[in-house]
Amino acid sequence: MGAVLSLVEPVALSTLTTMQVGGTPKSLVRCESTDQLYEAAKTAWLSDEKHHILAGGSNTVFADDMSEWNIVLVANTGIEIVTETDETVTLRVQAGESWDGFVQWGVEQGYAGVEAMSGIPGSVGATPVQNVGAYGQEVSQVITQVEFLDATSHEASIKPAEFFEFSYRDSSLKRGLRGVIGWVEFKLYKLGGLSVPMASGQITNHVGAEYGSQLPLSQVRDTVIELRSSKGMVISESDPNSRSCGSFFTNPVVSSIKALEFPDEMLKWKMDDGESVKLSAGWLIENAGIPKGYSIPGSKAAVSKKHALAITNTGGASAAEIVELARFIQERVSARWGMNLLPEPNLIGF
Ligand SMILES: Cc1cc2nc3c(=O)[nH]c(=O)nc-3n(C[C@H](O)[C@H](O)[C@H](O)COP(=O)(O)OP(=O)(O)OC[C@H]3O[C@@H](n4cnc5c(N)ncnc54)[C@H](O)[C@@H]3O)c2cc1C
Repeated sequence: MGAVLSLVEPVALSTLTTMQVGGTPKSLVRCESTDQLYEAAKTAWLSDEKHHILAGGSNTVFADDMSEWNIVLVANTGIEIVTETDETVTLRVQAGESWDGFVQWGVEQGYAGVEAMSGIPGSVGATPVQNVGAYGQEVSQVITQVEFLDATSHEASIKPAEFFEFSYRDSSLKRGLRGVIGWVEFKLYKLGGLSVPMASGQITNHVGAEYGSQLPLSQVRDTVIELRSSKGMVISESDPNSRSCGSFFTNPVVSSIKALEFPDEMLKWKMDDGESVKLSAGWLIENAGIPKGYSIPGSKAAVSKKHALAITNTGGASAAEIVELARFIQERVSARWGMNLLPEPNLIGF
């Protein structure tokens, strides 16, 4: 029998996740410093009990019964300037900092490089896990290094960004590398209050600018939050569509030959490698006969009314109902399009 973590906050995990489902765990340790985080993680790893690292809970769906699980809650905060020149600034941000709080602060300081990722919920330390991105920006473009506590060696060391093998919504942390991120360093740009060149037609079209142009940082942030809100992708008490994990499935990436099998009217995006093509999972879902707002009769889980790719908790849904709807969508898309949609959130305890 390994060490057992103490129950610090016996709260239902539904209160710590944006999907608002999940039962009460056996224990929960809130870690407000990096040292506490590493100690709690090592204790959990040495234990033979079930455990999970939780931060903002915006990409996690917990099961209804979590009574055998020990939760380590990432809550270390702080932003410090490591180096600065006339053109760039390198910032070390503790894992538990709010991602959007950091983006807002950066925009106010005039630092460019993360402005198009405004409004994404969750913590800074979780952003490397799935190489968080939106509107043409990804964290891998600005991460320089990360402090990482390895779950096998129990050693903390500073890893360069390449260590995490980032790709679209993916990193080695999603493919089996186990450990905890203590802090992340970002290199941002000082461009006189302007953004980096915008790589999102949605943003530039919305403000009537040319693709690739640089816009005032605050205009990019405001535009992104407006666009995201229209899709229920900004957490808001007043918008039940945001009671979700954002996109529930990743957009499938296929070869350009395979992409030809799909109709011309389907949304598709060429990937940076020039070879592969990202297909719109939302389009596949809607065109498999599952409309926005759909729910299985009697269930409190529903497809978002604003975005076919988001599954929402319409109020009092169980985790089982969320997962049942996800499976239904996967089966329908597979039957209609032969595509296997992969869930983006972490499903824990199922
Ligand atoms: C409305 C909405 C919109 C969203 N929009 C986007 C979007 O546009 N783009 C996008 O990429 N994502 C989006 N997401 C998903 C989510 O916000 C991101 O994945 C976010 O980075 C998750 O952060 P979190 O702190 O909430 O992670 P959690 O859900 O707490 O954890 C997610 C994973 O990261 C691990 N983890 C967390 N912290 C650490 C750490 N310090 N060290 C090691 N592992 C850790 C957890 O164990 C878990 O595996 C959206 C979610 C919602 C609800």
